[in-house]
Amino acid sequence: MSVIAVRDVVKRYESILAVAGVNLDVVEGECFGLLGQNGAGKTSLVRMIIASSPISGGSITVDGKDITVAPREIKSHMGVVPQEDNLDPDLTVLQNLIIFARYFNIPKAEARDRALEVLQLFELHERQQAKISELSGGMKRRLLIARALINRPRLLILDEPTVGLDPQTKYLVWQRIVTLKERGITLLLCTQNMEEAWRLCDRLAIMCEGKIIALDSPQELLAQHGGSQIVEARPGSENRRDIVLEMLGERGFEWQEIENTLYIFEDHNRSLDDELRAELSIMNLHVPTLEDVFLKLTGRSLRE
Ligand code: ATP
Repeated sequence: MSVIAVRDVVKRYESILAVAGVNLDVVEGECFGLLGQNGAGKTSLVRMIIASSPISGGSITVDGKDITVAPREIKSHMGVVPQEDNLDPDLTVLQNLIIFARYFNIPKAEARDRALEVLQLFELHERQQAKISELSGGMKRRLLIARALINRPRLLILDEPTVGLDPQTKYLVWQRIVTLKERGITLLLCTQNMEEAWRLCDRLAIMCEGKIIALDSPQELLAQHGGSQIVEARPGSENRRDIVLEMLGERGFEWQEIENTLYIFEDHNRSLDDELRAELSIMNLHVPTLEDVFLKLTGRSLRE
């Protein structure tokens, strides 16, 4: 059975269609990723799944239960790591966790034990008496994830958990997410980070303008859409651009243009011939990555 089942879900904010009819299933024990740029609709979708924003159309069930019917019960088995820090700045690290545990009616002594356990997992136990204002951005993010585990959730939802983190903290967070997955927790992860999606996700939905435009394992997405090599090039002269594009089109190449640079997808059927090479100033060749798949499918770069 699907842990999360999303059917024809729509989210409207007045004139903005943020989620435009999404269908997906997150199955038990997997890490399911939503990959998309700013504004793709990931957070809007997640906020409906966690029952903190009304659905404009369609339906969502978690563990088979409609989220509009049983939001409290569903939330009791769920952990949520929001994008923004909403820790209580007047409390210590430990107090933040203990107070949070009250939402789940966890007795105080038990809450303290669980708090120390999750602080240990995220290497924050030595800072348990620190005020939130004394923590670095990376520590706050680790604490947000630790806090989401206080009710021992079966499903953990993370909204861009490593944005803005230094590489060391990012790797620590990635390792811990792997640990949680190994413990059997089902994960839904929103990200704009291609490496994060590649390392952590079993399946990935690429979102663009409120829609899912591709859904598969990262490996399969790469095999299906990545081709064999990406040629980064510019037309030899600016006034030959249209001719170059026409030649690419005639030869059946897939390509994207970002800031005057062409990203041309070569595959086993198609590589640049001498005539085309003569028209191009080739800057770089690289092995396709998930980022290129994203670029090809959405026409946009994740870093844009
Ligand atoms: P980000 O990574 O920046 O959060 P996202 O993929 O999560 O991006 P959303 O935050 O879901 O995207 O935004 C989707 C669209 O909905 C955007 O056009 C955004 O401006 C709009 N939007 C989001 N929240 C609201 C709101 N509360 N009121 C009005 N429009 C909103």
